[in-house]
Amino acid sequence: MSEIKGQPCPFCNENKCTLKEDEVDIPYFGRLFVFVMECEGCGARKSDVEPAEPKEPCRFTLEVTSEDDLNIKIVKSGDATVKIPHIITIDAGPASEGYITNVEGLLDRIKKTIESTMEAEEDEIAKKKAKNMIKKINQVLVGRDTLKIIIEDETGHSAIISEKAQRSKL
Ligand SMILES: [Zn+2]
Repeated sequence: MSEIKGQPCPFCNENKCTLKEDEVDIPYFGRLFVFVMECEGCGARKSDVEPAEPKEPCRFTLEVTSEDDLNIKIVKSGDATVKIPHIITIDAGPASEGYITNVEGLLDRIKKTIESTMEAEEDEIAKKKAKNMIKKINQVLVGRDTLKIIIEDETGHSAIISEKAQRSKL
């Protein structure tokens, strides 16, 4: 892991940003760089991943049908769109992060995203809908329900690493 301190922060412009870079080897995917930016000045934090080798734009579809599927490894770049049909679509954007996780970790993150938007929500119907989404995700997390995860990435920097996942062209 390499680390450079005192870099200019893209958010507060102070030279209080630390950039970290790590290289990991992911079986069936290849070498991958992990970047983390943390600012001591304003608390901004951002991470992303980038494969060492160029990749083609891709779409991965995975049916999560059992508790075992929760361990399936996922590489999600900051450029990826994550779709869970009937539940949520998370588009890539400036705040979008890249990370290495598994199905369980991804669902936990999505749950937190829904929870935080739910707190700000005043509409009762939207609130109830969000509650039901969280309920469904919780059921999937204990292997009592199923759902589909779709990851689309124009840069090809993302992947669902499992024989169960279907890869198609974007
Ligand atoms: Zn800052």
